[in-house]
Amino acid sequence: MNGGPSTVYFVGAGPGDPELVTVKGMRLLMRADVVVYAGSLVRETVMEEFCREGVETRNSASMTLDEMVEVMVSSARAGKRVVRLHTGDPTLYSAIGEQIEALDAEGVPVQVVPGVSSAFASAAALKKELTVPGGTQTVIFTRAAGRTPVPDSESLPALAAHGATLCIFLSVGMMEKVVTELTGAYGADAPVAVVYRATWEDEVRLAGTLADIAGKVEAAGISRQAMIIVGPALAGPGEKKSRLYDGGFSHGYRR
Ligand code: SAH
Repeated sequence: MNGGPSTVYFVGAGPGDPELVTVKGMRLLMRADVVVYAGSLVRETVMEEFCREGVETRNSASMTLDEMVEVMVSSARAGKRVVRLHTGDPTLYSAIGEQIEALDAEGVPVQVVPGVSSAFASAAALKKELTVPGGTQTVIFTRAAGRTPVPDSESLPALAAHGATLCIFLSVGMMEKVVTELTGAYGADAPVAVVYRATWEDEVRLAGTLADIAGKVEAAGISRQAMIIVGPALAGPGEKKSRLYDGGFSHGYRR
């Protein structure tokens, strides 16, 4: 051992299907000695699939930040290979910032490995493009205000005013409120989809309008682990075809 602590890798576990872990993430899991995982969300099959026998797994769901940091710091100082596993992509709604600052303060090096966010897994499950040629060119990742506050300037009505595609995390338990806040700008007929556990065996996809989606979500018994996607992009391109594949449109790869 050369003395310094080993690097702690923050790895995106993806939405659930182990095949959606990146190759880099898979390699890190295969050689990990210690995996601290966000137990409420990370699917254990990801670890079962890739981790070696005898790996030490720690569920962070019941730990405080200090406890979690202490496990990572002491393991890294002992020269162990540590993976901190977060669902989807670790840079969205994962509170990695405070963990990284704490590890920095302890002199433990950190690297972050991206993952497939549930926003993208949900769009893939729906077979929908989140941007539309000639239509919306913007996607917003957000959440409804609940126990975690959201700045007023980012309230759902304020964001909906853009008419862009919204991917709404952590909010399916407040479906009525979400629908109310979106209807003013998008209109009751606007297309909206809810994907529960995208890529899991029990994935559920619901499509509807702002007028009827809350009823469908309730009937399906969905109150967590679901992505809400709303906006005109869900209606598809219709007459608005991309110029990229238009014969009259030349670009760098086709004249
Ligand atoms: N970093 C994660 C998000 C963590 S917040 C990511 O990039 O996906 C947790 C929220 O993500 C859930 O409330 C839900 O809105 C969404 N989510 C996570 N996994 C999901 C899945 N498999 N299908 C649909 N939504 C999911």
